[in-house]
Amino acid sequence: MADVVLASVGKRYGGVEVIPPLDLTIQDGSFTVLVGPSGCGKSTLLRMIAGLEDVSHGVVAIGGDDVTHVDPSQRGVAMVFQSYALYPHMTVEENIGFGLRLSGMPREEIVERVGEAAATLQLTPLIERRPRQLSGGQRQRVAIGRAIVRKPRVFLFDEPLSNLDAALRAQMRVELAELHRRLGATMIYVTHDQVEAMTMADRIVVLNAGRIEQAGSPMELYREPATPFVAAFLGSPKMNLISGDAAASLGGEMVGIRPEHLRIKHDGRWGGTIRHVEHLGSETLIHAELDGVGPVTAKVEGESVHAPGDLVRMGFDPSHLHVFVEGRRQTA
Ligand code: ADP
Ligand code: MG
Repeated sequence: MADVVLASVGKRYGGVEVIPPLDLTIQDGSFTVLVGPSGCGKSTLLRMIAGLEDVSHGVVAIGGDDVTHVDPSQRGVAMVFQSYALYPHMTVEENIGFGLRLSGMPREEIVERVGEAAATLQLTPLIERRPRQLSGGQRQRVAIGRAIVRKPRVFLFDEPLSNLDAALRAQMRVELAELHRRLGATMIYVTHDQVEAMTMADRIVVLNAGRIEQAGSPMELYREPATPFVAAFLGSPKMNLISGDAAASLGGEMVGIRPEHLRIKHDGRWGGTIRHVEHLGSETLIHAELDGVGPVTAKVEGESVHAPGDLVRMGFDPSHLHVFVEGRRQTA
């Protein structure tokens, strides 16, 4: 186990600066999720930690060792990718142990480590199967097993669940979080999916165009997003962001109010018309056009009697209002 420290780490491809120099410390034993939209530099950052990509600038340290120019195989990291790239002709057992056999590890030790990893991942009954005889989730677990047997100081995951269907992704989120608790290892996990970030991370780092927008615990970022970008990125449905006169009258260039905090009430601040209603069973999403404000979404518990065309007023508890000036959160 080890912490990971990036000091002024940056990346250029030719003349293009993809990641301006940034500082980031990932605590020993943490589950840190790097999250941001496609193309923001998540994979590049992870690959620089792994040593699969040279840094253009700065220093990468793992467990206090400067590994900036150390070969990937000597960094004590193991990476799991979106495409699991299993060998089709090998069994689960052979796939998991492949890297260890290459390294020349004694057979008994390989058997022991593979057995342990298979048990941890509930793959023991499947150990003789080949990849085509496995489901997508089981294949991804084999890929994770390949990482576990190496007993890395740091696990690196690059969108490992993106190829799975929604139900399986939800299950694997729980399994990965449990795996982290059991192994206590440092894990750095890259995803564009804010749900994965919110549910698995003990620390989220939000990236935007190669820069860190904000880092903190999931609930810190949800409660006090530092920028409109973070405000809109975390949470579903997205926070309502309002600018213009409606924002100015509340003291901001932009104000935000989450759908779950926007209430339909007869004395609400804003009036308008309901455009669309989505019934999700346990909750209802009400899309409305508010006069002088624009389109908003409100989330209400349970069923709603409201229908498109209804006139409504909406309001909120002022403690739930997010106020942004010059792109930064204003604190009271
Ligand atoms: P993410 O993983 O967040 O989707 P990437 O780290 O893959 O983003 O890419 C970040 C940016 O770097 C993108 O604009 C991408 O086009 C660019 N990029 C990635 N790899 C290369 C490369 N080998 N050559 C040039 N540009 C690259
Ligand atoms: Mg990527």
